[in-house]
Amino acid sequence: MGLADDGGLLVPEFIPDVSAELDAWQGYSYSQLALEVMSRFIDDIPRPALQQIIDRSYGTFSVPAVTPIVPLGQDYVLELFHGPTLAFKDIALQFLGNVFEYILDERGHSVNILGATSGDTGSAAIAGVRGKSNINIYIMFPEGKTSPLQELQMTSILDDNVHNIGIHGSFDDCQALMKGIFSDLDFKTEHNLAAVNSVNWTRVLAQVVYYFSAWYQLGCPARFDVCVPTGNFGNIFAGYIAREMGLPIRHLILATNANDILCRFFNTGRYERREVNFTHSPAMDIQISSNFERYLFYKLGGDTEQVKEFMASFAATGSAELSEKTQPIDAVIKAGSASNAVTLATIEQVYRTEGYLLDPHTAVGLSVMQVFREDGVPLVLLATAHPAKFEDVIREALPEVHAVHPTLEALRELPTRKTILDLAEDSIKAFIVRGV
Ligand SMILES: *Cc1c(COP(=O)(O)O)cnc(C)c1O
Repeated sequence: MGLADDGGLLVPEFIPDVSAELDAWQGYSYSQLALEVMSRFIDDIPRPALQQIIDRSYGTFSVPAVTPIVPLGQDYVLELFHGPTLAFKDIALQFLGNVFEYILDERGHSVNILGATSGDTGSAAIAGVRGKSNINIYIMFPEGKTSPLQELQMTSILDDNVHNIGIHGSFDDCQALMKGIFSDLDFKTEHNLAAVNSVNWTRVLAQVVYYFSAWYQLGCPARFDVCVPTGNFGNIFAGYIAREMGLPIRHLILATNANDILCRFFNTGRYERREVNFTHSPAMDIQISSNFERYLFYKLGGDTEQVKEFMASFAATGSAELSEKTQPIDAVIKAGSASNAVTLATIEQVYRTEGYLLDPHTAVGLSVMQVFREDGVPLVLLATAHPAKFEDVIREALPEVHAVHPTLEALRELPTRKTILDLAEDSIKAFIVRGV
């Protein structure tokens, strides 16, 4: 489930400490590591079944390491983009799709997943559930406003259970439609509506695994730093959990684009909403980070009343502040932001000096992490997408370079299917009713 019944977010009852087991897991494959890490949080799926779910989820990745680490200058890049849609969301959504299927099969249920996307999430969610008999998925996107490749990644999936819906409107309109439909509780119950949005705990859990994978691939250093390009605080929060479990992460470096609400919070203690900027790293064009509330729970010592107060104040006034502001706000999380100009310059410079092509989200991370590097502490940058997904930005940074990936090139030839619907709750509901 996404939200808890009271509108808050779910957190685990406790975070298991696995530091005594780290030695024993050396040499494990990605799937074996995933089983060890995730089974510490899962007591209702038998171990052999969980292993099967994990094997199937990561068998769709194009490299055996699943999330390989590569050296870049004096640092390292953990490539998270080798899944079916070439962005890190596959790591969570491949697993979530298989977990949904397993649990629905067990209970003899089916669901209709409804989602809204501006690009990356929709295709990763579709790739996670395509062809599954007890799941229908309906993804709304702003017609004509996603990139042509991003649209093809969704509309070229022709499985019967996949329904792509182009909406005449903006991404915000699509999200508002989705909220409206979910708030019709009778409709939601009658048609088993489900969401796969980034507050789903399963997504966070699946992402914890690659922090462990990074550490083993580095050769188990005494401590290491990780830089994470951030939007909804999902990816970096998974790192926070990994650290709480005993993985020797020293600093988590949070990197934002011009939408820098998180960066400002970690530098001042004030969480304040501003207008959305449209940037070259669109998956991070977010003003309200949905997973931040989970971090707050730990930051405030598990005091849910204080969390509630903070979030209520933010919802009411667009701003909230920690009552106790020590400096630094958090000894573990360092934060910085990068403009569009810096993002482009970083892509260009890294390509010219290292021959490595960064996607714009990863480039934000690379430019931010420079000032936090410390001799003797390995620094890992999480690469969240393959550069070919953002060919226009790459062309702007490096006019002579064509960022390509065979998976994306193959899409251009494929037949597609989508339905264009009006910006109206009733037309979406009618479409879902027909599709069931
Ligand atoms: C979703 C996404 C992000 C942001 O991840 P969060 O978990 O929201 O912080 C960064 N880069 C890419 C390419 C993404 O698709």
